[in-house]
Formats: sequence, C-alpha cells, structure tokens
Amino acid sequence: MDKPAAKRVPLFRSLQLKYALAYIVVIALVLLLLNTYPIIASQDQVFKSKQTSLQNQANVLSSSLAVADTITPEGVAQAMEMLGHTSMARVLVTDSAGLILYDSAGPENIYRYALFSELNGALSGWDVSRSGYRDGSFSTRAAAPITYRNLTIGAVYLWEADAEQGALLMNLRTTLINISMVVCILVILCSIFFSKALTRRIEDLLQAIAIVRGGQYNHRVELVGRDELSLLADEFNNLTDRLQVTEDVRRRFVSDASHELKTPLASIRLLTDSILQSPEIDPETTREFVSDIGAEADRLTRISEKLLTLTRLDSAVEPARCPVAVSAVVDKVASMLAPLAKAGEVTLKLELDSECVVFATGDDLSQIAFNLMENAVKYNRPGGEVLVTTSHTRDRAILQVTDTGVGIPEADQEKIFDRFYRVDKARSRAAGGTGLGLSIVLDTVKQHRGTVTVESTLGTGTRFTVSFPLCKEEVVE
Ligand code: ADP
Repeated sequence: MDKPAAKRVPLFRSLQLKYALAYIVVIALVLLLLNTYPIIASQDQVFKSKQTSLQNQANVLSSSLAVADTITPEGVAQAMEMLGHTSMARVLVTDSAGLILYDSAGPENIYRYALFSELNGALSGWDVSRSGYRDGSFSTRAAAPITYRNLTIGAVYLWEADAEQGALLMNLRTTLINISMVVCILVILCSIFFSKALTRRIEDLLQAIAIVRGGQYNHRVELVGRDELSLLADEFNNLTDRLQVTEDVRRRFVSDASHELKTPLASIRLLTDSILQSPEIDPETTREFVSDIGAEADRLTRISEKLLTLTRLDSAVEPARCPVAVSAVVDKVASMLAPLAKAGEVTLKLELDSECVVFATGDDLSQIAFNLMENAVKYNRPGGEVLVTTSHTRDRAILQVTDTGVGIPEADQEKIFDRFYRVDKARSRAAGGTGLGLSIVLDTVKQHRGTVTVESTLGTGTRFTVSFPLCKEEVVE
C-alpha cells in the first residue's frame, strides 16, 4: 500500500538549515576569538617587554654620553667603542639640533638631520619607544635625551629587529589557523549530521501523522532516546491508540446498530409478506400479525430513541445543570414503572433521603433511575422485590437499586455496560430490551462526574450503586 506523503519544507526554509547555520555561526565566532585574542595578547606582551628593555639600553647609552656640555662625533665614537659590539639593527646619536653624529649603519648620514619622530620626542626631553610587527619580525625603536646639567645636549636612537620572536608568533598564528580550519570542517560535518538526524526524526513523525490521517490507525512511531522528540512521538502513539480505540468502537457501534435495526425490519417484512401472500388468511391471524408488526415498530422506535440519546452523550455538549433531588426523581420513575411491576408481580419498595441532591439535570437523573429500575423489574421473578434507596455521605449522593432477580454471571458483569450487550438475548428481547440501557446509564453518570458499580449473584439478585458528588445547594422547585 502506498504511504501517504507528508508535506515537505524546502531546504532554505527548513529547520535543518536553521539549526546547522546556528551551529556554524556560534563556532565561527568562537574561532574568530581564538584566532585574534591570543595573537593580540602575546604580541602586546612582547612589545611591552621589548620597549622596556630597549628604553633601558637607550637610557644607559645616553647617560654614558652625558659627560660634557656638548657632544662631538669623536666623543661619541669613543663612547661607542667603549661599549663594544651591539646587537642593534641601528644606533643613532644626534646633537641637540637633531644632526646625526653617529650612525651604526655607516658614515654616509653623518651631519645630516635625523627625521625619526622618536628622536623629536627625545630632543624635547622625553623617553620615547614604539614597537611594530613588519615582514615577520618585531621592530622596536626607542629614543632617549642626553641630558647634561638639565640641558638636552642630544639624543640617542636605538632600533632593534627580532625575527625569531616574530617567527614564533607567525607559527602560533599558522597553527591556530590550521586548527581552526580542521575545527571548521568538523563543525560543518557535525552540524550537517546532527541537523539531519534531528530533522529525519521530525520527518518520520510527519510521515506517521500523514499515514494515520490516511486512516491507517495501527501505525506507530518508533521511539528513539528520551528527549523531547521521543516524548512527542510517545504522545503521538498514545493519541493514535485512543484514535484506534475510538475508531474500533465507532465501527462496532455502527455495525451493531445496523444489525439491531435490521432484525425488527426483517420481521416486519416477513409479517407483511405473510399477510400479502396468503389471500385466504383469517382475520384473527391478520390481527395477530399486525399487532406483531406494531410491536416491532415500537422496538425500532425505542432503539432509535436510545441511539439518539447516546449520540447526544457522545457529542459532549455540556448540559445545563442545577441541583436536583434524586428522591423526587426516583418517586416519579416508580409511579411510571408501577404498571410494569404489577404485571411482573414485582414489589417496588422505596427508601428515600430528601437530602440526596446532585448537581445534574432532571432528565439525565430520570434516565438513569428509569433504566436501572426498569431492568430490576424486567429481570426479576414473579413475587420478587425491587428496593430503591437514596442516601448521602459527607460528600457523596448515592442511589442504589437492589433486586431479587435472575442475577448476572460474573464474567458478564463488566460487559453489561457495553453498547448492545445482553446476557440473555432472548429474555432481553422478550422484555423489549435494546441492550443500550446500561451504556446510557454509564455515559450519563460519567457526564455528571459520578460512578456506577454492580454486584450480583446469579439466581439471587443484583445491586447497582450510583454515586455522585453531593450538591450542598438548595433544590430550586
Ligand atoms: P437491555 O435493554 O437488554 O435491558 P441493558 O443495557 O439495560 O439492556 O442491560 C444489558 C444486559 O444486562 C441486559 O440484557 C441483561 O441481560 C443484563 N441486566 C441488566 N440489569 C440487570 C438486572 N437488574 N438483573 C439481571 N440482569 C440485568
């Protein structure tokens, strides 16, 4: 059988894409942070330590040059010689006007003006240092004034380039980028896998809904794990269970109802055929047949009335409730049943409690009492007795109907509330029963939040007990 198709969502609007994108965006942000923060932080750290050390060296050099009120190229050359070999990329010494007196890069710049901004700062009396990262190496520059008796007589400029630390930082950056690439690929694969797994389960559920919608009520979803989707699937299965039960009940009810309606119709047909096909039939037999047709028509009326009552109860329309005195209802029903009781030689006894009040409708209580009391009379024996009592406890109103009739076998006791169920079909039919009375009682009792129970001993008698929440309001006449 073809499976009904579930509706599909295009990929660009799908939960799968949204879920995967959310995943990827979060990870991309984390990776961005991972690729920038450690590099910036370690670069800062390196710059700081480099600047401090270079500035110290510039200060040492400037102090060693501050020995007279003027500085000369010869004096500087002498001092530099004394300091010996330096690892600096460049060392510059200028006079107070910025004229270069010493340049470690060579003599060609001697007596030219130095234009480094750090030197300008130093000639104004400040220590100045700067760092940068260029072409894979750290470049640090520091300048310090040469001060003699509070007069700035020149400035020292040092420049250092560190390719080693630069390479380390480069390595760190490359490693981080490589790790990020791998993580990125893994995350994309994971997000596709997880989002697919999640949406596949949702698709399964949608598919199952479509199948059940198509009328296949026995279809169930397989439960995977214990997350919210499993709960949803479990709830769906429970719902489908209920649907299946309701559908089974409905089917059985329709088939039972049509069967029940067919039987009297077939009898009527048979009786009318008998009359029509026997021209010499005597008037007495005709009368008998017509009376039987009338009885069958009455049965049809009873069945259809009861079916209508059940349909009303199934429709779950809330009845207009008010406080109802159960005893008054029972009293009225007893008078209605008096002729039937008399005909069956059954004594009807009532023990009534005027405070037994229920929040319900008079018609519904009358229906309950009538069906139970009629059964107690119908399934009794000549000379038997029916005792109807109403009573109340602190919070319950109780109606009991006890008879001395044929009783109900234990195996049948829980089935008698089913629609069209009869213990003794022949007896029920003879007594004009439809098999619907007790199911109407059960549905009506439930509608008013009550309960109904049965106790019975075969051959001795039966007791039905109906209990409702007690209504403490006054009965409105
Ligand atoms: P019916 O219209 O056949 O009476 P009910 O639904 O009222 O249908 O009852 C279902 C069956 O339960 C009856 O057919 C009868 O066999 C049994 N039953 C109900 N009440 C009694 C009773 N008081 N004593 C014995 N059997 C009963």
